[in-house]
Amino acid sequence: MTRLGFLIDQDTCIGCHACTVACKAEHDVPLGVNRTWVKYIEKGSFPDVRRFYSVMRCNHCDDAPCITICPTTALFRLSNGIVDFDDSVCIGCKSCMNACPYDALYLNPETGTAHKCNFCAHRVESGLEPSCVVVCPTRSIWAGDLDDPASPIAVMLARHGTAVRAPEQGTRPKLFYKGADEAALDPLRTAIAPDGMIWADTRPGHPTRPAAGRDHERDAGQDLARTVYTTEHPAPWKGKVSAYLVTKAISAGALLVAALLVLNGDIAERGFVGLAAPVLALAFAALTGALLIADLRQPRRFALVFLRPQWRSWLVRGAFVLAAYGAVAVLWLLGGLLDQEWVVQLVALPAAVLAAGTAGYTAYLFGQCEGRDLWQTPLLLPLLLAQAVAAGAASLLVVAPLFDLDESVVTTLLWTLLGGVVAIALVAFCELSSRGSAHVELAVAAMTRGRYWRRFWLLGVGVGLVVPMVAAAVLLAAVHDPTGGAAAALAAIAGLATVIGLFGYEDAFVRAGQAVPLS
Ligand code: SF4
Repeated sequence: MTRLGFLIDQDTCIGCHACTVACKAEHDVPLGVNRTWVKYIEKGSFPDVRRFYSVMRCNHCDDAPCITICPTTALFRLSNGIVDFDDSVCIGCKSCMNACPYDALYLNPETGTAHKCNFCAHRVESGLEPSCVVVCPTRSIWAGDLDDPASPIAVMLARHGTAVRAPEQGTRPKLFYKGADEAALDPLRTAIAPDGMIWADTRPGHPTRPAAGRDHERDAGQDLARTVYTTEHPAPWKGKVSAYLVTKAISAGALLVAALLVLNGDIAERGFVGLAAPVLALAFAALTGALLIADLRQPRRFALVFLRPQWRSWLVRGAFVLAAYGAVAVLWLLGGLLDQEWVVQLVALPAAVLAAGTAGYTAYLFGQCEGRDLWQTPLLLPLLLAQAVAAGAASLLVVAPLFDLDESVVTTLLWTLLGGVVAIALVAFCELSSRGSAHVELAVAAMTRGRYWRRFWLLGVGVGLVVPMVAAAVLLAAVHDPTGGAAAALAAIAGLATVIGLFGYEDAFVRAGQAVPLS
């Protein structure tokens, strides 16, 4: 059994980019993206400064998270260990880009599909070496069978000490570096320094100059380093994914909270429980699906998630859970339309279970995004459930003024909203204050003190937590009839604020998770 891998000899690499160019020519790689590239870092303090190179590309991991998360088997392993891809079935969901801890994948702007180094599988098949190996003027790239002790790459590995990128991710990479500087392989070592343009003039605070503010780092024995040349890797998931999290929470929460009302004996509110709740659930489930499809770069291939499912992917599992939830919501709505209370009572429990699944599966999907440590938290599942409860109660409170509801129903909804937002606040506080990896700390810093602090504090906390908490507490403590005009309006405002705030929190969470460099 062959197990192909790469060894890059950074002791002899001269940073000439011949490998990058040969790869571009071999695979017709468009401008702005790369299957392989040379990263430069600078290290030290002026005048004692050195430049280091590292050649970046797919690691052809033995335990490849990109294969696990791909919903349509567009990424797969060949029998020789190469991780290859099939353009014709890629739906452009970009989940592999978040799963890969090495920034190895990019979205081809011409095809709308994910591409990466595939070890020049077509050349290997014909007995040739990958084009980067052939073109390298200093023989710094070695490719071969890692399991054959007589192969040149295995001999090199046996003779020399090597390192891999991000070994803590457990992906068992098959790209080994000889003589690479640690800071060149670990992007967090350079993340604290502002990246600069190569050959650009130094600025105050520039790590190649003595900088007062960075003395503590030098004292801690950390050599200052900064990235001066690399390839850009924009965040794959943006606002549509944040919005999808919100619409999904509303959809799931609407029936989760309505099921609570049914259990509470409030089923007599036919128009509200039997119609408004399932209509909300279905409308926002449809919006969730629309956002998911709109975020695909190959939206017309969406059906492949159902027709060619890769069952280990939580994108597939989630799509089926969402579809089953939609079916139960239709039954609930039919029960309401036909005034068949027993149908609503019958589906209430399965609907609640599927609603919890709909709200919670994203925790596992985000957990499969091995490249984003912020999303790996075990608290994400309880957080998503609390968000669904709050969003469900909030959306029902927004439509409540349209119905002549019993005071007890509105009171139940207000308590549920209050419980939901308090739970969100507690779980989010535990999540963001627990000490994680350096990656997590950088992401939390981006979320709470960096680029996304406004979304987090003003929208997520201010509008999304404080406003509904205060409004619900005031209504529950001081108002005798929460169904009265002004009180109902305040309850609806609290509901609206919860939903707006939820978007702020999710958007900060989604973007900050992708803000930490992986390469
Ligand atoms: Fe390559 Fe990244 Fe997949 Fe590993 S996870 S095989 S580095 S694309």
